[in-house]
Amino acid sequence: MEQQVPRLFIVIPCYTEEQVLPVTSHMFRDELQLLMDEGKVTDDSRILFVNDGSRDRTWEIIEELAAEDTHFIGISQSRNRGHQNAVLAGLMEAKEQADITISIDCDGQDDITAMERMVDAYRDGAEIVYGVRSSRATDTWFKRTTAQGFYKFLNLMGAEVVYNHADYRLVSARVLRHFADFHEVNIFLRGMFPLVGFKSTCVDYERHERLAGESHYPLRKMLALAIDGITSLSTKPITLIGEVGFAISLLGFLGILWAAGDALLHQTAPGWASLVCIVCFLGGIQLLSLGIIGEYDGKTYMESKHRPRYIISERTETVERAERNCL
Ligand code: UDP
Ligand code: MG
Repeated sequence: MEQQVPRLFIVIPCYTEEQVLPVTSHMFRDELQLLMDEGKVTDDSRILFVNDGSRDRTWEIIEELAAEDTHFIGISQSRNRGHQNAVLAGLMEAKEQADITISIDCDGQDDITAMERMVDAYRDGAEIVYGVRSSRATDTWFKRTTAQGFYKFLNLMGAEVVYNHADYRLVSARVLRHFADFHEVNIFLRGMFPLVGFKSTCVDYERHERLAGESHYPLRKMLALAIDGITSLSTKPITLIGEVGFAISLLGFLGILWAAGDALLHQTAPGWASLVCIVCFLGGIQLLSLGIIGEYDGKTYMESKHRPRYIISERTETVERAERNCL
């Protein structure tokens, strides 16, 4: 079957980026032109900027770009809501108009040429293509170590994320329509897309230095993102409390036996054994109870997200339907 050429929307969040946008917007435009010239995406593909409540001329620059060239379009959030929300706003805006979207930062750090390989992977059948950083040579030692620790810690805490994948990603409109059924407010996109499922693959790319301007992701925001990622995707920290509570209860039980035995066999200070028994008993039972309450709380939390319980990707062609199509 002849595959249709997809309409691509490149979704780019921008927060206070007046220094970098005039440079990178043309790089994005050139890459889009290349993809259109090669017939890999339709000629009415678009570059969609999402202004995330910038405090400088970013929105004016976007308006100027859109006035000059119809391939540039923009939306502006009413205030700064953070990178994840900006990407989400762009993807939701694009999902009814595009066949595929690629989200990418606007600072030129992520190798733009990887888009072509992403589109190729889509044409080979993948509906989500994760951009994965092949090296972090240009990152500082500190950024590299903290970022790698970030992925390991997330996975340890039960939030499964693709290693070294940030938010440079191709997603099909079909996946986005299912993604829209994930109603949670605290979003951590890179951990949520794997939950949607569908055929996915990875594409390697080089991570460069920012072309201009400054990072808006200092360590403080990265930590906040990690905590958001874990608490949005996993209730493992609660389970850990329960497990520690269980272990402490066991130890406490041994402690009670030891204190009682010691008091019977040796001359201990009056009141010592009963005090140790009370401390051991209370320590364990309190943590264990917290863990049990937490398990229920975690379930309620997950229920409150109203995530879809199943998503169907394929159906066999029934005889009835095939006949109807032939009529
Ligand atoms: N960004 C955003 N809202 C924010 C912070 C950042 O839309 O509140 C955008 C920013 O313009 C950029 C991307 O998110 O396109 C990644 O931010 P940045 O480059 O500052 O982060 P880093 O690459 O240093 O982690
Ligand atoms: Mg950056």
